[in-house]
Amino acid sequence: MGRTITDAREAAAELARRFEGARSAVFFGGAGVSTASGIPDFRSADGLYHQRFKYPPETMLGHDFFVAHTEEFYDFYRERMICLDARPNRAHEKLAELEATGHLAAVVTQNIDGLHQAAGSRTVYELHGSVHRNVCRRCGATYSAEWVMATEGVPRCERCGGLVKPDVVLYGEQLDERVLLASVRAIAAADLLVIGGTSLVVYPAAGLVDYFEGNEMVVVNRDPTPADARADLVCACDIAAAFDF
Ligand code: ZN
Repeated sequence: MGRTITDAREAAAELARRFEGARSAVFFGGAGVSTASGIPDFRSADGLYHQRFKYPPETMLGHDFFVAHTEEFYDFYRERMICLDARPNRAHEKLAELEATGHLAAVVTQNIDGLHQAAGSRTVYELHGSVHRNVCRRCGATYSAEWVMATEGVPRCERCGGLVKPDVVLYGEQLDERVLLASVRAIAAADLLVIGGTSLVVYPAAGLVDYFEGNEMVVVNRDPTPADARADLVCACDIAAAFDF
């Protein structure tokens, strides 16, 4: 295991230096990148769900639940998964800037909120899909998150009346093979891999970091992760502060 830094300013200086020296850096991120924008991590036990919903989020975000309880799924989806007021934070902004200046090849994210694109990132591999794409299962028409928010009950396609399903990978569903493959390629080709805001416990997404063969691996996460042992640098601090450089 490499060095561990807990001071955010020191972490920011180290990240700046490493991105500057990288030829093909990749950022791999999770829920912690978005919590700084006010998007709740549905896996964290904040008790909110128990007040309002009858089922745990893991159940409501399952494929079987979507099929059997579509209306309740959408109740949860509208209230907890779509956060239209959320804005990119310093981490999203800096990653977009690093890409624009040629210091970052790609963002691979487990998040479904589209905040990397909102910040200006272009090459973003969304392993778990996006709430901003909602697709008619019959004709393939695509609808925005705003459109879903304006509907009630189970959203039906305006063109054909088909059931609209979020382009989000639910529990029990496969990851999109093209997205997965592109992510593997980007990570395998990277010389710097920065893992941020993820506890690396959700497979198969978490297994992607095993494809990294480059020189430097950096972990930016408040809590320990399984990748820490392999990392050259661990920044155990706030992610938005660590990207404030
Ligand atoms: Zn349709």
